[in-house]
Amino acid sequence: MTKFFPCLLVAITFVACNPPQSSSLPPLPEDMNHPAAQIELPETERPKNIILMVGDGMGLTQITAGLYSNDNQLNLERFPAIGLHKSYSSDNLVTDSAAGATAFSAGRKTYNGAIGVDPDGKSLYTILEEAEDQGLATGLVSTSTIVHATPASFIAHEKQRSFYEAIAADFLDTEIDLFIGGGKKYFDRREDDRNLLKELRQKGYHVSSYFEEKLEAVTVDYSKNLAYLTADSDPLTYNQGRKYLQFASELACDFLDKRGANDGFFLMIEGAQIDWGGHANNTDYIITEMLDFDRSIGAVMDFAEADGNTLVIVTADHETGGFAINPGSTHDTIVGAFTSDYHTAALIPVFAYGPGAELFNGIYENTAIYHKMRQTYGFGELATGK
Ligand code: MG
Ligand code: ZN
Repeated sequence: MTKFFPCLLVAITFVACNPPQSSSLPPLPEDMNHPAAQIELPETERPKNIILMVGDGMGLTQITAGLYSNDNQLNLERFPAIGLHKSYSSDNLVTDSAAGATAFSAGRKTYNGAIGVDPDGKSLYTILEEAEDQGLATGLVSTSTIVHATPASFIAHEKQRSFYEAIAADFLDTEIDLFIGGGKKYFDRREDDRNLLKELRQKGYHVSSYFEEKLEAVTVDYSKNLAYLTADSDPLTYNQGRKYLQFASELACDFLDKRGANDGFFLMIEGAQIDWGGHANNTDYIITEMLDFDRSIGAVMDFAEADGNTLVIVTADHETGGFAINPGSTHDTIVGAFTSDYHTAALIPVFAYGPGAELFNGIYENTAIYHKMRQTYGFGELATGK
């Protein structure tokens, strides 16, 4: 009780308990020490595989607009466990995608722009790296460039999200089994003249791209890691003809299931452009990207239901646009309105299915998603120095 008393006093003086924007935020409750995080799940209740799906900028209104535009239904309705996370970063109540994804990947609140590093710029050990070290197969799929903030925060360690070439080089420091996304130019036309696609081939990867063949045409060699670049820079919008997310999600599930046949896998799939529709204050852009992401969720759920040993988590890093569905809207025509062309600080929904899903009920920090994933995998104490 005494713990909350100072906050109450502050409230009486009409000053918000929540820290103001852009100020340094108070120390966090350590999610790792949260009672729920101490429960060790019995082995029978642990998933072999975890698939984390991030709809960038996907707040509740984006989901709602997609649902009403799609005969009043979404694959998200197949999820039995639903929670909310607090999305703020270490230096701003309104997070960006770098800090938001680093919270998921490494369990630390950090500053906006940080890719897999803490507020002091020190590299964090990500769940993807830990999964790799534990012998699991790993993958990243995105509809942005693969070096963009969300996928980058799972595999790279850079002080600024704009260091795209450095982020691409960080991929070479890992043994990631599969990655699919745009940004080919950051791999093969670099200022340092390295050709990272050549280096990936030398490391034993099967490397291909939109330039050589469609993703659907790739002959998959399950004995090799797979890298496929979907665009030279940013992939197109769904409306412009980018249709690969659902197929890439199915391919990734099948590929990693075989690669991780013994120990399981970790896969992050991002629907990146829901956010870009929000930045553009474009309702149709939001809805088409939302529905593309939802179809991919459906494909992943089909895999998880058949597999029976896969935990699927769907969430967003933040909401984008302060999107609202205004009066005059119908199921067929959403009248969208926006308060911003940037992100907002609203609580963000989390959907979970599979072994351990019930841990995702409730309200918690965005960083708790990392701790809950480690908990369900049954990863123990973090090794020191990591
Ligand atoms: Mg993103
Ligand atoms: Zn954004």
